[in-house]
Amino acid sequence: MELRKDPITRSWVVVGHPDEASAAPDGCLLCPGHEAEHAALLTLPPQGPWQIRVLPHFNPLYRIEGEPGRQADGIYDRMRPVGAHEIIVETPEHNRKLSEMSDEQIEPVLAAYASRIADLKRDMRIKYVTVFKNCGALAGEEWAHSHSQLTGTTFVPRRILYELRSSREWFRQKERCVFCDIVRQEERKGKRVVDSQGDYVALCPYAARVPYEVWLINRKHNHLFEQPRPGANRRHLAALLGRMLRRLEKVSQAFHLVVHTAPNTIHTKGELTDYWKTIVDDYHWHIEILPIVQTRSKSYSIKEVYFNDLLPEQAAERLRQMDAGG
Ligand SMILES: [Zn+2]
Ligand SMILES: [Zn+2]
Ligand SMILES: [Zn+2]
Repeated sequence: MELRKDPITRSWVVVGHPDEASAAPDGCLLCPGHEAEHAALLTLPPQGPWQIRVLPHFNPLYRIEGEPGRQADGIYDRMRPVGAHEIIVETPEHNRKLSEMSDEQIEPVLAAYASRIADLKRDMRIKYVTVFKNCGALAGEEWAHSHSQLTGTTFVPRRILYELRSSREWFRQKERCVFCDIVRQEERKGKRVVDSQGDYVALCPYAARVPYEVWLINRKHNHLFEQPRPGANRRHLAALLGRMLRRLEKVSQAFHLVVHTAPNTIHTKGELTDYWKTIVDDYHWHIEILPIVQTRSKSYSIKEVYFNDLLPEQAAERLRQMDAGG
């Protein structure tokens, strides 16, 4: 496998076949009982029976050994898929979904995300850590056992680059964070806000790409998901996430969730140099949830222009009225 860069969009693409999955001889590899053959990178709690285990992916897209060896291929660029690919097992219980967990059980899932992001950012080669969750067959989930995944890459994914560029430009013009501006305006108008708890707000974005798209965002400015502000209470975020997932379940059994946080700014080389000057003030972490809802617009939705046939303010209204009980 290798990474190739599209010179037009500047996005990196993983090209090639991952290794064949080694068949699980005795059922689910994420269930308890496989601790010996697959050592964990992180276990929570650290002592006693585990609730969370983070494992290297069994068939990784990215491998931690070696250097990316970025090289020219005529006018093109390519490199080896060096990086990290991990599985975050969210519960020892095979049939318990994230939406069915208590706030106390969701909180360490978020803590595991933060811990792995912070750890991987210590690796000089890794420029960005993506934490994501594909839930449901329509979302392409790899195992039925509740889990998230993480990739640490030697490049910044395209959508994050777009966000970084826009945030920086907004800040340059207005000396304000665009995400803080969004939260302030949405809370003032109220139409697209679904729920909130403590410092965290759930809203349907103004230009939602799919019906019931939801962002979870901190009302107080912070560019790093992995490094909460002093006094921040992650239990509140866990509670808000649980309630949103229980609402979204009523409209879709499948969703993509992705954490957007600032890239690795420890190093002084590479394409991000310019962003560092204001990134602490201009970027703002958030979680995006994209439910997969079957609609007539399906044929347009993954193409060049998103077509969403549900107004985000209507989506927010419906979500607000849904029971979010656990
Ligand atoms: Zn299992
Ligand atoms: Zn902000
Ligand atoms: Zn984002």
